[in-house]
Amino acid sequence: MTEKFDVIVIGGGPGGYVAAIRAAQLGLSTACIDMNTGKDGKAALGGTCLNVGCIPSKALLDSSKHYHHLQHEYAAHGINASDVSMDINTMIARKDGVVSKLTGGVSQLFKANKVKQFHGRGRLLSNRQVEFTPHASDEQIVLEAENIILAPGSVPITIPNVEYDNKYILDNAGALDLSEVPARLGVIGAGVIGLELGSVWQRLGSEVILLEALPTFLATADQDISKQAGRLFKQQGLDIRLDTLVKSASVSDGEVTVTLEDKNGESEISFDRLLVAVGRKPYTEGLLSDDSGVELNEHGQINVNEQSQTTAAGVWAVGDCVRGPMLAHKASEEGVAVAELIAGKAAHIHFDTVPWVIYTDPEIAWVGKTEQQLKEEGIAYRSGSFPFAATGRGLAMGNAAGLVKMLADEDSDEVLGVHIIGPGASELIAECVVTMEFHGAAEDLARIVHAHPTLSEAVHEAALHVDKRAIHRGN
Ligand code: FAD
Ligand code: AMP
Repeated sequence: MTEKFDVIVIGGGPGGYVAAIRAAQLGLSTACIDMNTGKDGKAALGGTCLNVGCIPSKALLDSSKHYHHLQHEYAAHGINASDVSMDINTMIARKDGVVSKLTGGVSQLFKANKVKQFHGRGRLLSNRQVEFTPHASDEQIVLEAENIILAPGSVPITIPNVEYDNKYILDNAGALDLSEVPARLGVIGAGVIGLELGSVWQRLGSEVILLEALPTFLATADQDISKQAGRLFKQQGLDIRLDTLVKSASVSDGEVTVTLEDKNGESEISFDRLLVAVGRKPYTEGLLSDDSGVELNEHGQINVNEQSQTTAAGVWAVGDCVRGPMLAHKASEEGVAVAELIAGKAAHIHFDTVPWVIYTDPEIAWVGKTEQQLKEEGIAYRSGSFPFAATGRGLAMGNAAGLVKMLADEDSDEVLGVHIIGPGASELIAECVVTMEFHGAAEDLARIVHAHPTLSEAVHEAALHVDKRAIHRGN
C-alpha cells in the first residue's frame, strides 16, 4: 500500500528541513526526502548550507581569522607570539565536527517533531505522487501527499573549458576540504563565495588572485561600501583583478594554467589550486517526471507565484531553486511561509527586507536599496553615515575600519536602505532590518537609546547624520 502524508518535502536544506519542521509543528504528517550523504556515509541533512556552504565556510573563516590576528594584530595589544603554526588537519576536523553536530541536530529535530526522514532521491510524479529511491539502492517506492514542497537547492555553475576535478580545480566543497595551504590559489569570480573562501586561504598564507569578469567590484552592493571593501581587501593582500574573463583552465604537472582575457589581451597565469566561484544554478536534475506539471523558467528556476506555488496543483517550491536571492535565511522563511499556507494560515515574505551578508574581515552587510538603485528609480533620499573609527568600542577593540551608511526617504524619512562595512556588520544589520520591516524612520533609530560603548552606536549616529545632527562627527 502506498504510504501517504499530508506533506512531502524533497530536499533537506534550510528551505526543506525548516518547511518540514514547521509543517509538523502545525499538526501535518510530514516526510522529508534528502539524498545528501555525509563523510561518515550516513544521511546528512542541512543541504548545501550546513554541509558545504554557510556553516563550514564560517568555521574556516573563524579559524583563519584567529591565526591571522595572532600573527598580525595581537602585537598591538602587547601580545607577542612566536613559533605560531597552523595545523590544517585540525582546522578541517574542527569544521567537520561543527558540521556533523548541526546536521545531526536536524535529524534530532526531525525525530522530536515526528518528521519521517527518507535518505535517498525523490522524483515528483503526477497527481502528488513522489518516487523515492533509497540511498545506495535501485528499488523504488511511491509515496503520496496532499501537498509537496520542492526544495532541491542549487549546485555550482560550470564555465566552458574549466572542469572541476576537486583536486586542482575546486568548487566550494573542494575549497572547504584542502589538506594543505596552496602556495598560489586562483579564484574565478570575486563574488561572495570567492571572497570568503579566498580570504580563508589568504589568511593561512596562500597568495590569492581573484579573477573577475565584471569591471565593477561587488556591483550589487552600495558603491561606497564596495570601494572601501576593495581598498581594505587590497591592503590585506587579496589581489582582485577586475575586467578579467577566464576562458579556460587546464591541469598539468600539478599546476593549473588559466587562460584569461583582460585589457592587455589574452594571457596565461598558473596556480597550485584554482577555485571556481562563478555562482550557482538551481538543481533540478532528475527531480521532475515529464508529466509532473511543474514548469521551469528561462533561468532554469522552478516557476512559482508570490506564494511559492508551482504550476502543478498542490506542489510548492522554495529556496535556491526559485526566484530571489540564493540565501539560506530566504530559503528558510519561504519554507515556513509555505508550511503555514498549507495549514491554512496567512503568510507572506518581504523580499525587500532580506539582509545580505559577506563574512569577510571586515564584514559587509546590507538591507534595502543601494544609493545607485535610488538614483536609478528617481527616489528622493537623504543619506547619513558614520565611521567605526569614531566609535569608542571600535577603537578599544582595535578593529575600527569601515562605516555605516543609511539612506532614508527625503519626505517621509522612512529608512530605505542601510549598508555596513565593519566589525560585527552581520549582527548590526538586524536592527536595521527590524526598522525597515516596521517602516521605521531614520528619526526612530536616532531616538532609540543605544548602549555605550557598542558598535551599534555607529548605526545610531548614521541615523542622526541623516538629519545632519550626528554628535561624534562633523555634519
Ligand atoms: P540546499 O541547501 O542546496 O539543499 C538542498 C538539498 O536537497 C540538498 O541536500 C540536496 O542534496 C537535496 N536534493 C536535491 N535534489 C534532491 C532530490 N531529487 N531528492 C532528494 N534530495 C535532493 N547563504 C547564506 O544565507 N549565508 C551564508 O553565509 C552562505 N554561505 C554560503 C557559502 C558557500 C560556500 C555556499 C556554496 C553557499 C552559501 N550560502 C549562504 C547559500 C546557501 O547555502 C543556500 O542559499 C542555501 O543552502 C539554500 O537552501 P536550499 O534549502 O534551497 O537548498
Ligand atoms: P556570485 O554570483 O556572487 O557567486 O559571483 C560570481 C562572480 O563570478 C560574478 O561576479 C561573475 O561576474 C564572475 N564570473 C562569472 N564567470 C566568470 C569568468 N569566466 N571569468 C571571471 N569571472 C567570472
